[in-house]
Amino acid sequence: MAVRVRFAPSPTGSLHLGNALTAVANRRFADEQDGVLVLRIDDTDPTRTVAGGEEAILQDLAWLDIGFDEGPVRQSERGALYAEAAARAIVGHAAERDQEGAVRLRDGGATLLRKDGTATYQLASVVDDLDLEITQVVRGSDHRPNLELQRRIARAVGGQLPEVIHHGLILGSDGKKLSKRHGHASIADLRREGFPSEGVRAYLDQLGLPEHDVQLDLPRLRRLATDAIAAMSDAELATATGAPIEAVPALRGARSLVEAREYAKLVVAPVGASLPPDARSTLERFAELRAAGPDHLSADESRSVLRELKAVGGDLRSVRLALTGAAKGPELWAVVAAVPRDEALARAGHAVAS
Ligand code: GLU
Repeated sequence: MAVRVRFAPSPTGSLHLGNALTAVANRRFADEQDGVLVLRIDDTDPTRTVAGGEEAILQDLAWLDIGFDEGPVRQSERGALYAEAAARAIVGHAAERDQEGAVRLRDGGATLLRKDGTATYQLASVVDDLDLEITQVVRGSDHRPNLELQRRIARAVGGQLPEVIHHGLILGSDGKKLSKRHGHASIADLRREGFPSEGVRAYLDQLGLPEHDVQLDLPRLRRLATDAIAAMSDAELATATGAPIEAVPALRGARSLVEAREYAKLVVAPVGASLPPDARSTLERFAELRAAGPDHLSADESRSVLRELKAVGGDLRSVRLALTGAAKGPELWAVVAAVPRDEALARAGHAVAS
């Protein structure tokens, strides 16, 4: 039988890292067995559905490069299927309608249909897993408590629940399931904080299908982010930061895309610096050395300008301040290489003009 798995987020907004782990695990499970991944949107519970929630999830999946083969299948559009299943359970004496009109399992009383006729997550999830011919459910272990009930519901509607594999959750530093209050919890948070998608994806790929809960390893996530930035081509890094391609060498040491964008700003459009008179001799010497070079310096040429400047007692901090307006930032040789000659001369002149 062909493998069919599903990723079934509730549309509550950007995916949490733990949900994203489930998505990656399902994608890999499908790929390893030449199977199919169905995206299902669990939107039967109005209190867990937020406007734009589905779009946010689609955006996160695309950002993480997690493709799906079928869907999105929206539970809100499949009410008739759930009502039919509940009716089958009633006919089979596995469920009954209470005085208020809700349909409940006889054994244990779990609600299948609310009194307004809408399906609960438990019923909808089981009916969909059967109807979509899911062969394995791969999900977080926070759903382990649902397993027995879902097995009973599957039997009540005349089917059998597929094999279910629960994986460990990602926990915050306090040992609790990662949630909004931990920060760095959602894919949108991570994107905003400048983590490149390749780094986040690598982190999730390395976690695989953890048997037990794991604590979010922020230092490792940061390391993978730095590695991912380092592995980008100049063109990729230019696109990811919006920086001009000439400025990219100066972004190389950045540990996040936010930092890379800050570096780009220092190189491309710094706030002007005004330096004290004792910086004048350094900047005049720098201007002489730089004026003799081509429009754009190579890394070697740039390093050699700085070496010569240092050899005559130049203060490199003044050069950095004059060129970037900041005391810290990218490596100075990379700044000198990224700023074109005339622009460099103008900044050096301006810094000591007043
Ligand atoms: N909508 C549920 C969730 O987001 C899916 C649970 C399941 O995979 O069965 O946790």
